[in-house]
Amino acid sequence: MSSIVKSEAVVLRAVKFGESSRIVTFFTEDFGKIAGMVKGARRPGNRFGSTLQPMSRVSVVIYRKPGREVQTVSQCDHVRTWRRITTDLDRIAAGMQMVELVGMVLHDEEENREAYGLLTSALGELDAETISPWWLFYDFEVQLAGALGFRADFHRCAGCGRPAEEFSGAAGTVKIDIGRGGPICRSCDSPAVRGALLSRGDMDFFLRLTPGKIGGGAPAFTRNEQIEKFLSEYFAFHLAGYRKLRSGEVFRS
Ligand SMILES: [Zn+2]
Repeated sequence: MSSIVKSEAVVLRAVKFGESSRIVTFFTEDFGKIAGMVKGARRPGNRFGSTLQPMSRVSVVIYRKPGREVQTVSQCDHVRTWRRITTDLDRIAAGMQMVELVGMVLHDEEENREAYGLLTSALGELDAETISPWWLFYDFEVQLAGALGFRADFHRCAGCGRPAEEFSGAAGTVKIDIGRGGPICRSCDSPAVRGALLSRGDMDFFLRLTPGKIGGGAPAFTRNEQIEKFLSEYFAFHLAGYRKLRSGEVFRS
């Protein structure tokens, strides 16, 4: 049955459609990911203004017919506007990768309040400008994996549960079991374990994260290709539809 529904949402992407419209993908708090047609969104002086830009946090009214691929949007208003994300290139790059990732890994119309909460708090922290955007992006990826059902635990051996500090201190690198999402000690390791190596310093980053919660990071943390490589390998292993994020590449070039 079709109905008119209202939900808070984050705009994930917007593409042009026809002469004057846009098809906008929202991650709604109540109904998960929904694509909606916004008629007249590109007419000068239209009432939607900047609400349809990716990363916008909005309240959206949708005429929703279950099973329809593109729904109809009748209203969209800001619930919070970002002051700083949109003026700092690193913050834009981090935020755009967050919304791209969510758009890629979530199924249509599948509610995931944990993921929604993570995305809104990550964007809020990004705007607050006290934590490095890269820290926030990697933190967000780790927590999102948890919300999608493949939570990583860096604090103990993925095989025997031994605390990581007991076996990860001596060697220069730590092997992470990609399948089970955690470091692996020497007695549990075997050639059959699909692993990725993390340096001691990168491992420290993961150990400082709080499971299920975004934040608590350092302001000066810089971009880290090894961490990015590890996280994309981790997502690719657990999600068939995962591909490398493109938003990052745009800002890198
Ligand atoms: Zn072990």
